[in-house]
Amino acid sequence: MAKIADVKVWRSEKGECRIYVHTVDGREGCRYMTGNNFHQPKTNDGQLTNEEWAEARKLALVDNRWTNYGTQQPVVRKNQRAQECATCGEMVAAGKGRLYSWFNDEEDRDEWLVEHLDKSICDAVISDRKAAQARMDAFKGAVQALRDLFRNVDCSAGEHVLTGVRMLDSQSIYGGGDWFVVEPDDVWFVVNNGMDGDDWLRNNVRTGGAGGIGRKLPRTDELVAALEATQAQLVALKAEGRMQQYNSGR
Ligand SMILES: [Zn+2]
Repeated sequence: MAKIADVKVWRSEKGECRIYVHTVDGREGCRYMTGNNFHQPKTNDGQLTNEEWAEARKLALVDNRWTNYGTQQPVVRKNQRAQECATCGEMVAAGKGRLYSWFNDEEDRDEWLVEHLDKSICDAVISDRKAAQARMDAFKGAVQALRDLFRNVDCSAGEHVLTGVRMLDSQSIYGGGDWFVVEPDDVWFVVNNGMDGDDWLRNNVRTGGAGGIGRKLPRTDELVAALEATQAQLVALKAEGRMQQYNSGR
C-alpha cells in the first residue's frame, strides 16, 4: 500500500459527484458517488486497493462526508465589475462576488457567473423576497374575499353616483379594473364595464367613463375595517416598491 497523496471532491454542473484519490506513487482511483450512465452509484474504479480506499476514507471523510484532502484550496476568482448574482438576483459589487464557470447547455458554451461571496446576503435576499411574495399573496386573497362577499348580490337598478371613499381602486383609463366605495349607509363594489367590447347597457354606476356595474351591501364596521386593513396592505406593498401599480386583473 502506498500513501495517499490527495483526495479531491469533483462535482459537475449537472450534480454528478465523484471522488478522485491519488497515491504518492502516481496511481488514481475514482469513486462514483452519484453514478452516471456508465457507473453505478458508490462504486469504485481505477487502480487503488481496498486498503488504500479505506485509508483515503480515514483521511478525507469528515462527518461521513467526503472532503478535499491534501489538495490546494481552489483559488477564488472575484468579480471585477458589478454583476447580477446568479443565486439571488441582486447586484454584486465589484470584488464582493465569486466568479465561477458554468456550462450553458442551450448556447453550448462556458460562461462566467458570479454569486455573493457572503452567502448570508443571498439567503437574506431570497427570504425577503419569499416574505414579500407571501404578503402579496395574502393581499390578493384578502381582495378576493372582499369581492366574493358581493358575488350573489343583485345590482341595484338606476344610475348611481358614488361619492364616498374609494378603496382598492384599480380603475384603468381603458374602462377596466374594479374598486370599493364606502358610502354613508352602504359599501359598493364596482366592476368597471367601460371597455369597447363591454355591454354598457348593464351599467348602473357612473365612473367618469362609460360606467360600471355596482353591487352594494349594508355598511358595517366589520366590512369597513376589512377594507381598510386590505387597503393598508396595498399601501405598504406599493411603498416597498413591490407593486408599481395595483392591477386587479380585470
Ligand atoms: Zn446573492
